[in-house]
Amino acid sequence: MTKVTRRHMAGTGWKMNLRAFEVPGYAQRLLQQIGTGDTSAIDLFVLPPFTSLAAAAAAFGGTPVAIGGQNMHWEEHGAWTGEISASMLVDAGCRYVELAHSERLQHFGETYEHVCSKVDRALATGLTPILCLGETAEDRRRGGSDDVLAWQVTTALAGQPAARVPDVVLAYEPRWAIGGSEAASCEYVAARHATLRALLRDRYGADVANRTRILYGGSVTPRNGPDLVALDDVDGLFVGRAAWDPEGFAQIVAEVADAARAKAGRSGS
Ligand code: PEP
Repeated sequence: MTKVTRRHMAGTGWKMNLRAFEVPGYAQRLLQQIGTGDTSAIDLFVLPPFTSLAAAAAAFGGTPVAIGGQNMHWEEHGAWTGEISASMLVDAGCRYVELAHSERLQHFGETYEHVCSKVDRALATGLTPILCLGETAEDRRRGGSDDVLAWQVTTALAGQPAARVPDVVLAYEPRWAIGGSEAASCEYVAARHATLRALLRDRYGADVANRTRILYGGSVTPRNGPDLVALDDVDGLFVGRAAWDPEGFAQIVAEVADAARAKAGRSGS
């Protein structure tokens, strides 16, 4: 078995939940829980709504939990009412920005062409994009999942030099598994992650493919987390509902940390 050295990640997007006054309590409970385990080998993040970023920056400052935005505009400033720029996220203390979440695509008309511009701006501003990818139920039904993933990655990363690709975190989130009652099966996730890894290898070379992290998201829970994150090409978990309860998130964080240790300890093939 091959040793995996990619730094694993556990993160959550809060969507439109957790107002500023609720953040200190969440942070205190989460930090209390994860404080007892060794999470030094993994990267942790929470993505609060914009109005809770300041509270999150204060609550998580000096802790291993980084914060990020759930979206941003591709321009730096200008007449874009209601939007937030990459620099504004940096001002708010963000290290990450989530791009192309399925709810942005579905409800707000975002496209991967927009996302391509956002990836570029995020990287240029020093943010790490968490780039969501995933097929719809209809794509899956007609057997087109891998083609859709290939198109999404190619479009979103168009114009990026190979050296920059590992600075992007890919998050495979099948759209039909988000907000549902069941995650994708391990077999299905393993196949999609292998497809994405192979695509990176073909396009950017083995070194880039080996260094780029690919997370899984979509109905992850503390119950299914260990099996999903044990998969070779799954470099961490991106969690919605199950992490809005800090104890649930702490449990998933511990599972990711365990998997990262197990993978790093494997003997090379
Ligand atoms: C998400 O919205 O990105 C997500 C993974 O949500 P959930 O875990 O609730 O399916």
